[in-house]
Amino acid sequence: MYSFSASKKAFLFLFGTGLFVALLCGNTHSADDGIQRLLLAYPDHLCGAEGNTILWCDGETMPYDDGKGPKTHRQKLEDADLQEQMEQIYPRGTDFPVPPTTDFEPGRIRNERFFKKMYGDSAERVRKNLAPVNWLPASGGKRLYMTTVNRVNEHLQAVSNELDQLPAPLKRFVDNPAGSFNWRVIARERRLSPHSFGIAVDINAASGDYWLWNSGTEREPRTYRNRVPIEIVWIFEKHGFIWGGKWYHFDTLHFEYRPELLLDAGKINPFDK
Ligand SMILES: [Zn+2]
Repeated sequence: MYSFSASKKAFLFLFGTGLFVALLCGNTHSADDGIQRLLLAYPDHLCGAEGNTILWCDGETMPYDDGKGPKTHRQKLEDADLQEQMEQIYPRGTDFPVPPTTDFEPGRIRNERFFKKMYGDSAERVRKNLAPVNWLPASGGKRLYMTTVNRVNEHLQAVSNELDQLPAPLKRFVDNPAGSFNWRVIARERRLSPHSFGIAVDINAASGDYWLWNSGTEREPRTYRNRVPIEIVWIFEKHGFIWGGKWYHFDTLHFEYRPELLLDAGKINPFDK
C-alpha cells in the first residue's frame, strides 16, 4: 500500500531512488511502473494504490488492469483500462520511429473514465475550471482556454512564454493555433476528444498533418508527413505535453497534457519551475 497522506515524501524519495536504480540497469520503465508514474504525475488526485487498485484522494477506487484480457488495438482505443493507457512508452525527444510503426501511438489510448473524473464529465463541469492562457503575447497575442485542474493552464503558459522567444521562422508554426477547449467526440469515433477536458491544444492548421486527411483510412493512415520542427515539440514536452506527431495515426498539430507519459526518472515533479 502506498500512502501519500502520511509518508508522501518518503515514498516519493524511495520511488525516485528505485527508478534511478532501474535507469542505471537500463530499464527505465518496468512492466508495472505505470501505477507509480500515475501517482507521481497526479499527486493532487491520486493518493495511493493497493495491488491492482488505484485510490483517488476522494475515496473512489479504479482498477489498474480491468482483467478483460488481451485486446486488439481498436478495442484498447474504445475501452482502455489504465494499464493499457500506460503500456506504450512515449519516446521523449528526437529518438522516435519515423514513420511511426503500426499502432504505436503512446497517449492515444485513454481510459475515458479517468479523464472524466479528473477534469469533468460534462462540458459545463469542464468549463467551470477553464482559465485563459495568454498565447504569444509578444507576437500579437491570443487567448486559449485550458483547465486549471493540474495547473494545465500554467503549464501551457510556460510553453507559450518559451515559444514567444523563438525566431520568426519557427514561431510561424504556432502563432495561429487552431483550438484548445472543445467538448466533442473524435472524428469517426464515439469517444471524447482530449480537447473536451481542456488539456489539449492544436497549433497552426496550415502547417499540420493528420492521418485522416485526404485518403487516409484507419488500417492505412495517410502516408506519414510532418512539417513541425522538433524544437517546438521539445518545448511542449518539457512542460508535460505529448505530441500527436509521434503516433501511427498521426496528428502533428496536436499537443496534450499527459505528464504520466513524460516523467523523468528520479524527479518528483519535473514540470514545476
Ligand atoms: Zn488536437
